[in-house]
Amino acid sequence: MYRYGEDYADRYSNVNPVMASFSDLTEDIVPSRPPQKPAHTKVIEDRSERGRPSSGTPSVSSTTYRSERMPFVEPKGFFISYWRLFWLVLLVVLLVLIVAILTAFIDSPRRGSGEVSGTAPPTTLDPSIPYHRPRLPTNVVPKMYDIDLTIDADDREYSGSVGVTVSCSENTKYIILHSAFLTIDPDKVSVSRDGYAEPLDVRRQFYFELHQYYVIEMENELEVDEEYRIAIGEFKGVMYQDLTGLYISEYTDVNANLRKVIATQFSPTFARKAFPCFDEPGMKAIFQVTVDHPRDYKVLCNTKVALDRPSAVSDTWQVDVCEATPVMPTYVVGLVLVNPDYRSMERIRPDGFQIRVWSRSEVINHLDWLLDIADRSLLFFESYFTRNEVIRKSDHVAIPTHMFNAMENWGLVTYYESNAVYNQVTETIRAKVWTAIISVHECAHMWFGNLVTMKWWADVWLKEGFATFFMYEAMEVLEPSWGMSDIAAVEIVQDALIRDGFVTSKQMSDPAIDEVDEIFANFGWTVYYKGLSILRMLKGMLGTEAFDRGIHTYIDRYKFSNADTGDLWNEFTKATGGSLDVKHIMDTWIFQKGYPVVTVRRTTDQTTGQKRVVIEQSYYVLKSESTTINYGESRYGYKWDIPFTYVTSSDRHNVVTKWLYANTTSETFDLPGDHSNNWILGNIGLTGFYRVNYDIDNWNRIIRQLADDHTVFTPVSRAAIIDDAFALQRAGLLDTQTAMRVTLYLTKEDQYEPWLAAIRRLNYLYDRLCFSPIYGMYEIYVRGLLRDVEGAQGWTVNTDQENIRAQSLREVILQAACKYGSDACVSTARSLFQSFIESGEPVEPGLTRVVNTVGIMYGNEDDWNKLWSIALAGNHVINAEALAASSIPWILERYMSRCVNLSSDCPVTRHQVVGQVGNNVIGHTVAMDFIDDHWNDILATFYSARVFEDGILTAADLSNTESGLRVLESLLGRTSESHPAYSVLEKVIEKVKINVEWTHAYEYEMRRFLESDEAKSVL
Ligand SMILES: [Zn+2]
Repeated sequence: MYRYGEDYADRYSNVNPVMASFSDLTEDIVPSRPPQKPAHTKVIEDRSERGRPSSGTPSVSSTTYRSERMPFVEPKGFFISYWRLFWLVLLVVLLVLIVAILTAFIDSPRRGSGEVSGTAPPTTLDPSIPYHRPRLPTNVVPKMYDIDLTIDADDREYSGSVGVTVSCSENTKYIILHSAFLTIDPDKVSVSRDGYAEPLDVRRQFYFELHQYYVIEMENELEVDEEYRIAIGEFKGVMYQDLTGLYISEYTDVNANLRKVIATQFSPTFARKAFPCFDEPGMKAIFQVTVDHPRDYKVLCNTKVALDRPSAVSDTWQVDVCEATPVMPTYVVGLVLVNPDYRSMERIRPDGFQIRVWSRSEVINHLDWLLDIADRSLLFFESYFTRNEVIRKSDHVAIPTHMFNAMENWGLVTYYESNAVYNQVTETIRAKVWTAIISVHECAHMWFGNLVTMKWWADVWLKEGFATFFMYEAMEVLEPSWGMSDIAAVEIVQDALIRDGFVTSKQMSDPAIDEVDEIFANFGWTVYYKGLSILRMLKGMLGTEAFDRGIHTYIDRYKFSNADTGDLWNEFTKATGGSLDVKHIMDTWIFQKGYPVVTVRRTTDQTTGQKRVVIEQSYYVLKSESTTINYGESRYGYKWDIPFTYVTSSDRHNVVTKWLYANTTSETFDLPGDHSNNWILGNIGLTGFYRVNYDIDNWNRIIRQLADDHTVFTPVSRAAIIDDAFALQRAGLLDTQTAMRVTLYLTKEDQYEPWLAAIRRLNYLYDRLCFSPIYGMYEIYVRGLLRDVEGAQGWTVNTDQENIRAQSLREVILQAACKYGSDACVSTARSLFQSFIESGEPVEPGLTRVVNTVGIMYGNEDDWNKLWSIALAGNHVINAEALAASSIPWILERYMSRCVNLSSDCPVTRHQVVGQVGNNVIGHTVAMDFIDDHWNDILATFYSARVFEDGILTAADLSNTESGLRVLESLLGRTSESHPAYSVLEKVIEKVKINVEWTHAYEYEMRRFLESDEAKSVL
């Protein structure tokens, strides 16, 4: 699934560290892209109570979502027969009497503790008891499910039955399945030896809510090498609009009728919410699904509907029988019931393979791009793997509400609607790219995840890293003119480097992950962005041929089965013919957080006069002075096996690789020829996931080369030089003067990648300096850098609409030019805004954000109210950022109040509002005061780390002072440790400490640079 959410619009928020959160996220249950219509916005508030139990008192809410507005059904706890109940009641009465007598005489401190009934989890877990362990035992595994569901969209309750054929690999009395919020009728549960009708004796069956288990304890042991049939004859579930399990998605059609779609979201652990099952990725099986439903709904399932037959429920119902699936994990089982308003478009290949796209009728005409790209994506992967898709049809369904950007149910991909829709009249080329890469990502999952599945969620990067990697690899083939590989280097790899540079980041694969919350939290930027980055480095290391060979044998060997990270590395090692121990190398990148900085120093051998280069590695990490690094916490001591690549100015097309291993401190090698005036450049093409620092002479030579002829370096290399210089400066590894001098050449820069890197870093400095006396000088300097490139951008419709890099450059540059107060930029944007507000004439999609932001920043109350009304009407997508740009404090206060209050309409993503107000220089104090004043309400309303990390608490990004720090520390003191906001606050406090220290340490240095002749030369 694609969870890590930036849309084409949010992508640009990364340009601005004001809005980007440079630390890892832990959760995301909010669709990332603003919905087309406010009515579709079902955000986090719907599932506000989610948390882990306080120790010793686990409860059902510990591992699941609750809803304020949609109360969940508490599963009944413990099914026993009546005669047992009688004896149990008698026993309890006797025990109560005994306890009462004893407590009259003994003052027992232990009174009231301990297990009180079969439903309450014990206060301590005993790992010798199978259902006390958080993971299913592997001695009973499913082979085939028969799932029958009876679903009426007008009735939230549905019913079903499940039959599972299991095999037993070790004698056991326990059959343990997952079940969450389902009511299972115990009288209709039976277990029999496969092929025999006679049921075996069940001693007891009960829920173990802590782990969302349903436990069937047999009278006698199941026997090894035998197969059994578990029949759960009846269970009931309830569908909510909570985006998990089997859920209801509602919308209003063009005739103002309320419509419903029934959809599923099972990944990662929500299949158990729809039907009892062995809900772990290692428990793969065949699924045969049958759905009894009203005939006016159409059933879409993973496979083709094999036949329909009459329903026993009513004449107006029918039963659809879906073909059996291939062997696959529970989390990719999918089901969608679409109402008669839904439409489809299809392509049928000569071999009969059918690709269809589905959406509500109002937007179906904008799904043609999705149909095209999904078809071509699948063809790309079929060609790459030289094997056909296993399921010979592929449905792609736009759902009005969706937890993630999209979900890769095998044969039945679901999309958050606005990700599937591309309207070429109203949307930018980036929206087109976004729809394309989301679709490619999901199609890649048919192989990575569906065909070959990770053994356990700790290795989720195995599917998400590959699917993200192929988003860009496939686009290089499908749309070569877009240049997506270079864009990935700057937008994804550099973003991952920035995020992974904090002491608070997490390793990509953590074998300790067990609990549901941990599984969910693991779907963060690390598995997607760092996953892509690491695979990119591996490809660079092995070469395309060996890399492809490794992937092919990995897929072939583990198809319809499971693999872990080690299995993948073994296939790559074999692909190299054993010349590289890929596992040894790559484990250093997977099993520890962060990354290294390689320092390059040139020396001269005193005796021979030979020019030499010494490279050494150290852990790159941003931390406050009060934080210490425990090198022992990493099994590799924060050392990596690094494939260091470099070129020299005298031989700049010859990329040389030198290995710097984790067990060595440094390496030395000779430089041939005369290098008295030449430079050396490391990490060519940004293929390595590390930073490079140089001796000051070499930095000066690189700066001189940039000034003389920057095109000697590729745009990606220029972006890498800029980003490394500022990252090193921020960590105290490079002096401010040198880092700033790297920017001097930007007056001549006209390419997207270096500008994206530069503006991201310049905006970080904006955040640090915006309240400083030297800000005026800084603003003039940045305007000077931007002057020529701004002048080259147009404000009218660009004829080269398909040139993604040119379009992206224009958006980035114009946003920056207006941010730094360019008169020409501001006046054009204001005039376009006024004509939009007055005439309703839409602005060109690529300019909407900058025009609305500037219009509101310089506008009055009337302007704000009009834009708010336009946003509410839903005909135009309005960014939360634009409404947050007002310079009138009370309007900002009102805006935040409206959007934090769930009962008020809010046409933008609610949790972004406070953060974006906080990133407005005028709004910063207003937002911090608002958070301070309303903290308890905010905590009660929002319950997701992502919402705080990439939303509300980004308001602190402009905080550079001790007083700002004190506000955050006071918030921490008022937050329960069990609330997801707590750990986010800890990270934010660490970041603000770093920022405060930065401002203290470097403001003077910045002034010195800005007053230098070199800086003045660009004004
Ligand atoms: Zn994915």
